Amino acid sequence: MQIIRADHAGFCFGVRRAVELARSASRDFQKVTTLGELIHNPEILEELNSRGVRAISAISKIREGVVVVRAHGISQKKLAVLRKKKIKIVDASCPFVQKIHREVSLFAAQKIPVVILGRRGHPEMRAVVEDFPAVEVVQKISPKSLQKFAGQKIGVLAQTTENPENFAQLIAALEKLVPAKAGNHSKIIARETICGATLERQNSARLLAEKVDAVVVVGGRKSNNTKKLFELVAKIHPAFWIENETEIRPGDFTKFKKVGVTAGASTPESTIRKVEEKLLKISN
Ligand code: SF4
Repeated sequence: MQIIRADHAGFCFGVRRAVELARSASRDFQKVTTLGELIHNPEILEELNSRGVRAISAISKIREGVVVVRAHGISQKKLAVLRKKKIKIVDASCPFVQKIHREVSLFAAQKIPVVILGRRGHPEMRAVVEDFPAVEVVQKISPKSLQKFAGQKIGVLAQTTENPENFAQLIAALEKLVPAKAGNHSKIIARETICGATLERQNSARLLAEKVDAVVVVGGRKSNNTKKLFELVAKIHPAFWIENETEIRPGDFTKFKKVGVTAGASTPESTIRKVEEKLLKISN
């Protein structure tokens, strides 16, 4: 069995930066916390925990020390609470995530309603909604929920890890679903907010899937960008989503000659390598 890795797989620059900032904070300060999990990867979270970096989900429980803001970002409301408590903040929020906040605030300043394609419960979207509760985060296109925008200008964005095809579908659907009222043109103002690392990983996963018989997608269960990679390759060939090499079931791979490996943006190189080694072992 031949094992082929996608050209772009694993850590993106935003995640690498967040992990480096957390490691360096753990060297420089006594008490380091992250508000929620720094990234969606159990192996890295364990490593940070061993360095004394604790993930705390309730802001009320943080009373002192240093807080590393994760790559998914946090709301201005929460930042203000931390500043009031005189907590030192290390901001590891990704610039691509910050761009979404900027675009939403520009639309809000012009009183233009905003629709974002994304997962409402995901930390990246929760941070946006905390500051801008009127923002509509949609996972699926629901004509009913969008009818309220009829005849209005609408700002349309996507979570950084979304699939561009789904985004194009949302824009097309909005254009149909938001008819202009008499004498008034509806207008969809779409902004590119899917991050470059997501696009690179999705494109190379697609190319990889086209030249192999099956694809292994490595990444945390809570990782949205891993989920999107899995959905994409599963449309082309049999796909297996695993968090690490221990989840590989040799029997699943007996009939394949070429197996592709790709990984979400929060999957470290060490995990990808162990997966490849295990696949090679079972093929011998
Ligand atoms: S996936 Fe994109 S938005 Fe998320 S941390 Fe990486 S570069 Fe930033």
